[in-house]
Amino acid sequence: MSKKRILITGAAGFLGSHLCDRFVKEDYHVIGMDNLITGDLANIEHLFKLENFEFYNHDVSKFVHIPGKLHYILHFASPASPIDYLKIPIQTLKVGSLGTHNLLGLARNKKARMLIASTSEVYGDPNVNPQPEEYWGNVNPVGPRGVYDEAKRFQEAITMAYHTFHGVETRIVRIFNTYGPRMRLNDGRVLPAFIGQALRGEDLTIFGDGSQTRSFCYVDDLIEGIYRLLMSDYVQPVNIGNPDEITIRQFCEEIIKLTGTSQKIVYKELPQDDPKQRRPDITKAQALLGWEPKVGRAEGLKITYEYFKSLPAEALAKVEH
Ligand code: NAD
Ligand code: UDP
Repeated sequence: MSKKRILITGAAGFLGSHLCDRFVKEDYHVIGMDNLITGDLANIEHLFKLENFEFYNHDVSKFVHIPGKLHYILHFASPASPIDYLKIPIQTLKVGSLGTHNLLGLARNKKARMLIASTSEVYGDPNVNPQPEEYWGNVNPVGPRGVYDEAKRFQEAITMAYHTFHGVETRIVRIFNTYGPRMRLNDGRVLPAFIGQALRGEDLTIFGDGSQTRSFCYVDDLIEGIYRLLMSDYVQPVNIGNPDEITIRQFCEEIIKLTGTSQKIVYKELPQDDPKQRRPDITKAQALLGWEPKVGRAEGLKITYEYFKSLPAEALAKVEH
């Protein structure tokens, strides 16, 4: 029997590359697509020798053409870290809107099932903690993060519309802060920022007073949740994340302990609209998908730290603040 064919956008990025690995392992024919705006081919170069993997260097905000059959589409292309989407705000809005529209059109045409990567950022700076899927959020549309948050909210809306009006099979995952190997050391997100600073012998920068919270999910757990959601018949959004909430100050202390750095903590201004609290309510994922995270922070951080330590010195030297 011929293999099922899956298109994964954002394939050269952190999450996209792990998804490529998973579906190659499940014996799918995987078509990776990426324009490399924030991704790195090094994340998928081990797949190039395989017969069941192919790669297109293409911007999905432009018309997307894939020859032959397609059974599934995973739309993960989008800048994802605050410094990335602040640097390329228009591309961020376009990939969430035009890119999603193009891919929904492709899904409709090919009768493929499409899953989109939404985010906890659709809840903005939430007034409810933990955040259940029913919470509508608290987003500033014209603030600096609006380019990402509103693109993702539009992405959810157009995806539901294609489901309702065109009968396209769709799935929506709301991803909470995820970490692991293949994060970019210089992408500005808190974990690579702290580990990078420790490795370079710099002080660790906490934004604000560090009392804001996040809940960090290890990448393998996230990929398993996405796989289960794609295979389920549930159309409404589902949160996937680890509900183990921690303040950024406590998190910083954990990184100091892990890396053994003797550097100190320095406090910098809190970016505008930085969410004060974030924690997923995963009741739905537990009930519908039988999913919950398995990897604790101590274990996940250790694996991630080993990965960062194994990178060549040039990767460490490149920093963006
Ligand atoms: P990433 O930056 O590592 O990967 C994104 C990939 O998309 C990159 O390889 C980039 O080059 C590619 N890309 C961007 N615009 C494109 C375009 N127009 N055409 C083709 N390719 C394009 O980020 P990530 O952390 O892997 O995030 C992947 C997806 O998951 C994003 O949609 C993001 O919004 C979502 N997400 C991630 C997290 C997280 O914690 N990592 C949390 C919530 C949501
Ligand atoms: N943060 C920090 N120091 C840094 C980078 C980030 O204190 O060097 C904070 C940031 O202000 C936010 C939290 O860490 O409160 C998580 O930031 P990240 O960019 O990783 O993700 P997001 O804000 O999108 O959850």
